[in-house]
Parts: sequence; structure tokens; C-alpha cells
Amino acid sequence: MSGFICQNCEKKVSTDNFIGTAFRNHCPFCLWSKHLGQGKTIDKVRPCQSMMEPIGLTFKQEGFDKFTKEAKQGEIMIVNQCLGCGAVTINRIAADDDPKAILKLLRRSFAPLRMTPDIKVLDEKDEKEVKRQLFGII
Ligand SMILES: [Zn+2]
Ligand SMILES: [Zn+2]
Repeated sequence: MSGFICQNCEKKVSTDNFIGTAFRNHCPFCLWSKHLGQGKTIDKVRPCQSMMEPIGLTFKQEGFDKFTKEAKQGEIMIVNQCLGCGAVTINRIAADDDPKAILKLLRRSFAPLRMTPDIKVLDEKDEKEVKRQLFGII
């Protein structure tokens, strides 16, 4: 069995064959991630490897509806920000992510985001759609 210990909540995370997830890049319990991209300031060659805090949710950008011209609602994505270098990444949620943790994050994401001017972070208005996607209720 392959996996890793989450460096935030210290739970064991399995990386075996997740349904719908080719590869796991965040902890399903606390939604923290690890920055494996290159840091902006620390080191330009090696991966940053700092922890990435979940700071909000967004919907995947699917473009605009041809007929209504409204932005199409894509799947829920988690916005993580690196504590080391400040980089922001957007990650797909996985089938086994804790829905309660995701909802908690939705409620958290009202606080203005640091350095994410181009990401539309979800708020209360979006709770219905988030719940629909997570639990299948309308
Ligand atoms: Zn964790
Ligand atoms: Zn980083």
C-alpha cells in the first residue's frame, strides 16, 4: 500500500487507486497540500515542498454558455496557498475528500484572499451548488 503521512493533520493518506483521481495531491481529511512546484523566491531549481493551506473554494472555469452568456459552473476546486512562497494552486477535489471539510472551507473563504485577484472564490451564494455537487441534493 502506498501513501504518505499528512504533514498538517498527521493522518495516513493512501494513494492507492482512487476512484476518479489519477493522483492525489492533497490530504482528504484537512485538504492541505504540499507545494511540489518550483518556489517563487526560495529556490528556482528544486520543488518548494512547503505546506499549502486550503484558503477557499472555486468552480472550475468552463467558459460561457453559448445561449445564456452566463459563466458555466464547473466542478468544485480547492484553492491552496503555499506558506513558503505564496504560490496559489487550484486542485480538483477527490472522491474521498471529507465533504464536511470542504463545506467548512466554503464558510471560511469569505475572508479576502491573499494574492489571488484572478480567482473567484466561492461564498454563501454558492453553498447550494457546492452541496449539490457533494451530496447530490438540490
Ligand atoms: Zn491532513
Ligand atoms: Zn511554495
